[in-house]
Amino acid sequence: MSQDNPLRVGSVEFLPGQCGVVDLPVGSLTGYQPVTMHVHVRRGRQPGPVLLLTAGLHGDELIGVEILRRLLQTRNLRPIKGTLLVVPVVCMPAFLARSRYLPDRRDLNRLFPGSPEGSLGSRLAHAFVQEIVPHATHSIDFHGGAVGRPNLPQIRVSPGDPIAADLARAFAPPVVIETGLREGSLRAFLKSKDIPSLLFEGGEAFRISKEAVRVGLRGVYGVMRRLGMLPPLKSDEKASAATLFARSTSWVRAPQGGLFIPETDLGKAVQAGTRLGTIADPFGRYETTIHSEVEGLVIGVSREAHADEGDALFHLASLPGRSEEAGPRDEIVEHRDPVE
Ligand SMILES: [Zn+2]
Repeated sequence: MSQDNPLRVGSVEFLPGQCGVVDLPVGSLTGYQPVTMHVHVRRGRQPGPVLLLTAGLHGDELIGVEILRRLLQTRNLRPIKGTLLVVPVVCMPAFLARSRYLPDRRDLNRLFPGSPEGSLGSRLAHAFVQEIVPHATHSIDFHGGAVGRPNLPQIRVSPGDPIAADLARAFAPPVVIETGLREGSLRAFLKSKDIPSLLFEGGEAFRISKEAVRVGLRGVYGVMRRLGMLPPLKSDEKASAATLFARSTSWVRAPQGGLFIPETDLGKAVQAGTRLGTIADPFGRYETTIHSEVEGLVIGVSREAHADEGDALFHLASLPGRSEEAGPRDEIVEHRDPVE
């Protein structure tokens, strides 16, 4: 638990019980505009965990920005102990460009820990690592799916991290997936510093899904309660939603090019042999039915009817032998990591 007292971000110090916003300078753009990072600090009066909440590492993934906006809007939001550090838009240049990437087409989430002499993104990563990360004891980083390929709200955790797995249960998404780490990602950097972290995925780029926002916001409160930053729920208020821990995930790809007509959707359970959809040629000559090869859950789906051979159509979490009253499990997962 961090005992920082006061807690300093940039040139601003926060004492226990204090709240505020720091506009951290991180560089400048071609039009001479300064690039800053808005860091919201909410300190409780008592010492405790420092929960870092981030979104907008990818500038086109807006679900997390909305979740954190809603959180910051909550009246009197201040932990009873510990500190919330909230950065709703980590990569402002990508957010302004309405792009996943920085203006030089780099991906911020491959540039950690960054460098003070590197590219703009590398400097931004460095500033984040220097000014924000050292305070954090736990982290949740919010992401979204690709354009036209929404994700079921889900939490990804690193292998062999029991604290993160416990927080994932407290977040209570429909599904938790253990995934490997990408070099240069924020999650890999946090892991190197032994900071337990959750990665949220939900909805798709450029859009705000109410359901994903609801799950994400509820999840933040669940984690804060688990960390003792908020009082526990009364037993009659406890969520009944069950969280599944997936053993593995796989993509179902178009076996050939054609029109894609789905027959299932996000969150639907599938068995081996379940019809997932059809690929049809545009001239009515042939149709190919796509079947699931696994028992599990649809956690990602393509919304596009154009399909070239090999296009990703469904992302399935494998949950063999899943019972109807699926409670938290300790099963685990090897995962070929999709984009995060
Ligand atoms: Zn992302």
